[in-house]
Amino acid sequence: MRIELPEKAAYIIQELERHGYEAYAVGGCVRDSVLGRVPQDWDITTSARPGEVKAIFGHTIDTGIAHGTVTVMVDHEGFEVTTYRIDGEYEDARHPKEVIFTPLLREDLRRRDFTINAMAYNDADGLVDLFGGLSDLRQGVIRCVGDPAERFTEDALRMLRAVRFAAQLDFQMERRTKEAIRTLSGNLARVSAERIQAELVKLLVSDHPEQIALAYETGLTEVFLPEFDEMMRTEQNNPHHCYTVGEHTIKALTGVPADKVLRLAVLLHDVAKPLCRSVDAQGVDHFYGHPERGSELAGQILRRLKYDNDTTGRVRALIRWHDDNPPLTDRAVRRAISRIGTEQYPGLFAVKRADLLAQSDYQRAEKLAYLSSYEAAWNRIMEQDECLTIKQLAVNGQDLIAAGMRPGKEIGEMLKRLLEIVLDAPEKNTREQLLTFVMNENPFTYDE
Ligand code: ATP
Ligand code: MG
Repeated sequence: MRIELPEKAAYIIQELERHGYEAYAVGGCVRDSVLGRVPQDWDITTSARPGEVKAIFGHTIDTGIAHGTVTVMVDHEGFEVTTYRIDGEYEDARHPKEVIFTPLLREDLRRRDFTINAMAYNDADGLVDLFGGLSDLRQGVIRCVGDPAERFTEDALRMLRAVRFAAQLDFQMERRTKEAIRTLSGNLARVSAERIQAELVKLLVSDHPEQIALAYETGLTEVFLPEFDEMMRTEQNNPHHCYTVGEHTIKALTGVPADKVLRLAVLLHDVAKPLCRSVDAQGVDHFYGHPERGSELAGQILRRLKYDNDTTGRVRALIRWHDDNPPLTDRAVRRAISRIGTEQYPGLFAVKRADLLAQSDYQRAEKLAYLSSYEAAWNRIMEQDECLTIKQLAVNGQDLIAAGMRPGKEIGEMLKRLLEIVLDAPEKNTREQLLTFVMNENPFTYDE
């Protein structure tokens, strides 16, 4: 098996070898190359100690010296070069207390999580595959290196990584690996929210976000997203639906582009349905208020998982408005866009479409036609650059003060009223017409 190493990675490996050390490309880059995917970055593993690596290369950065990692810079491009190591005893199902350097490649490969991630390559030796990684890659299997229960006990994050790789690669999980997760899933509680968040994002933006189902089946969502388990248990006896809330959500995830915010929004768009469920006299389920409460609950969940405020805000807005369906007059659509915020579009349409396509067939054609018309109206309003925000008004606060209004909160209120006028009649967005309105409306605020 031959892998085309990028020139700079090959250079680093050669230099290390020329100085008498062993060096290989390792892990994700080998896996992705074998699969014919483009690796994100090329990690190098070597028998040289960090100090020895630094002595060979002109420009290096101490990325994680304690863990044996030095970044070697080649023409402004960085490559992580890590000394062969064994992870010491694991403290708390999270990080090894210490790392021990080893002269043996085998030892370094053995500490890695999955067989497909435990292969090394250089041009002299070709593929070094000591744990059946190649065969698992060919069969599409995620399998732990060694005893799964032991490996997951050492580092509980590996359980979620297993699901994430299954989603990215569309692989099956080997039976013993999966069973070990079922048994040990509770240990994920000891892993930091930040590490869980990073894996969850990779899972969600993968080609197979529906593999979140595997995280549910194995008991992992119960730990970091128990709200999802609630969704899986919530039936929707209602003509619009044919799945539980959770199954509907899984289906909808596959229907929205692979973007972090959009996928998170779809994941959580119905998160409050379990809380909002009511049954009417005919036995039909309703979920009144679920967008509002869902947006709040999503805020709590995303904060718990340590998402940044920008992501959280955008996700919350999409959830808040996912079920908002204005009448399709130009006035009503302008009002809706203004209320919801232009920045939520066109993402909101993607969420609405994915949601709709994961519902029952009931009124599907009508719903799709509605959505297309809504989108067309939005497009037209955007093309004509119609005023939708106070910022886009032909006058600003300064103009109102110059026209004689007293500074203060009346200014803001007047601007809001002007926006209302312009949303109803865009042609009124001229300085002259707006200032005339102000003068007529507010004769008493003038100082003259
Ligand atoms: P990605 O494409 O997401 O970067 P990757 O396989 O490169 O995938 P990284 O998290 O960058 O994943 O880790 C690089 C390598 O380090 C892995 O391929 C694996 O060999 C090893 N590794 C990473 N995390 C762990 C872990 N928690 N336990 C054991 N080995 C790990
Ligand atoms: Mg990587």
